[in-house]
Amino acid sequence: METLTLAYARALDEQDGLAAYKEEFYVPPHAIYMDGNSLGLLSKRAEQTMQELLESWKLLGIDGWTEGKHQWFYLSEQVGEKMAPLVGAKKEETIATGSTTTNLHQLVATFYKPAGKRTKILADELNFPSDIYALQSQLRLKGYDPADHLIRVASPDGRFLREEDIIAAMTDEVALIVLPAVLYRSGQILDMERLTQAAHERNIPIGFDLCHSVGSIEHALHEWGTDFAFWCTYKHLNGGPGSVGGLYIHEKHFGTLPGLAGWFGSKKETQFDMEHTMDPAEHVGAFQIGTPHVLSLAPLLGSLTLFDEVGMSAIREKSLKLTSYLLELIKHELAAYEFTIGNPIDDSRGGHILLEHPEAARICKALKQDGVIPDFRAPNGIRLAPVALYNSYEDIWHTVQKLKIIMEEKRYEQFENKRGVVA
Ligand SMILES: *Cc1c(COP(=O)(O)O)cnc(C)c1O
Repeated sequence: METLTLAYARALDEQDGLAAYKEEFYVPPHAIYMDGNSLGLLSKRAEQTMQELLESWKLLGIDGWTEGKHQWFYLSEQVGEKMAPLVGAKKEETIATGSTTTNLHQLVATFYKPAGKRTKILADELNFPSDIYALQSQLRLKGYDPADHLIRVASPDGRFLREEDIIAAMTDEVALIVLPAVLYRSGQILDMERLTQAAHERNIPIGFDLCHSVGSIEHALHEWGTDFAFWCTYKHLNGGPGSVGGLYIHEKHFGTLPGLAGWFGSKKETQFDMEHTMDPAEHVGAFQIGTPHVLSLAPLLGSLTLFDEVGMSAIREKSLKLTSYLLELIKHELAAYEFTIGNPIDDSRGGHILLEHPEAARICKALKQDGVIPDFRAPNGIRLAPVALYNSYEDIWHTVQKLKIIMEEKRYEQFENKRGVVA
């Protein structure tokens, strides 16, 4: 079949308006990188802004806070503004601060206000462990037992959630809802607009974890009225290992006191008055706690210019084409090898594909040996994320060919079917 050939993959690359952006990134030598949903690659622009910030420290010392090209004192707000279009927020509604998990703690500390019968938190059983640990600990802090106060909506098949089940669980005992936007294993996108509306009809504040959706799909958080959101920037946003996280609150909540306060949440003009009465910023900035991690913000300044230039709709369009092409090749080339597609095959999938296989751990090791970098998720998941800004159709073609040979020759048998420390 013509569509299965390398020539066809190359023809798709030739028609791809974003193909040139691959040159903006450092792809590990001799590798096909399919793991951009765990750690995005370094771009030349991110390297450049990283160097500029190092330089400002070298040349300005303490004065770097208020002098130089990128004044450190305003950096969190600046990077926050650049992320606003990615989540469909106003520029005062997003800030770069903390990490995914600490931002979740901040938001639960702010928006979880148990009262009367409304004391429970609603989440789901497929949620990322760190989010669940955070919710459990926040419940304990308020004196509740997570065993009966954290409701986890069940998944019928261990892969997907049904929005109707989530809505049915929004009872008058629920004080707060926290859900993923895109599920980290199956890549299912939850209908954030519908869930926000259903929550608000029942007077329950709702927020989303955007770790796997930001930089991968479009959002309209402000328009939907979503109360809050949080995300990491080292996956699809290519901010580098441990780069500073993102936090959004809807402007209707401006003026709400942060549950966890600190001096960087102050108005910029009065922060250094050193008063013991806090004068909080009148926007999302109030939710910052301490001194920003300037060197972990630096790469984002450069990286986010790529998103600004290309725009989320073009990124999403290419991402869907990449994943459909990958699904098509898997269907034709790997039919003999008991793989199960674990992601939605319609457009309700995010930016990655989940292939399930009983030998997944060692198949991933064999792929790595052959120069393809996948992502293993216990117990049986191989995540493959072809990223719009730096993966080509040819990358996908080679990935599937290598996988086919690994299966045909059972090359995975030379490895133990056990995961490494990370992944
Ligand atoms: C990656 C990821 C996290 C990671 O949290 P950190 O605080 O950045 O370590 C949390 N939640 C989800 C859904 C993730 O995908």
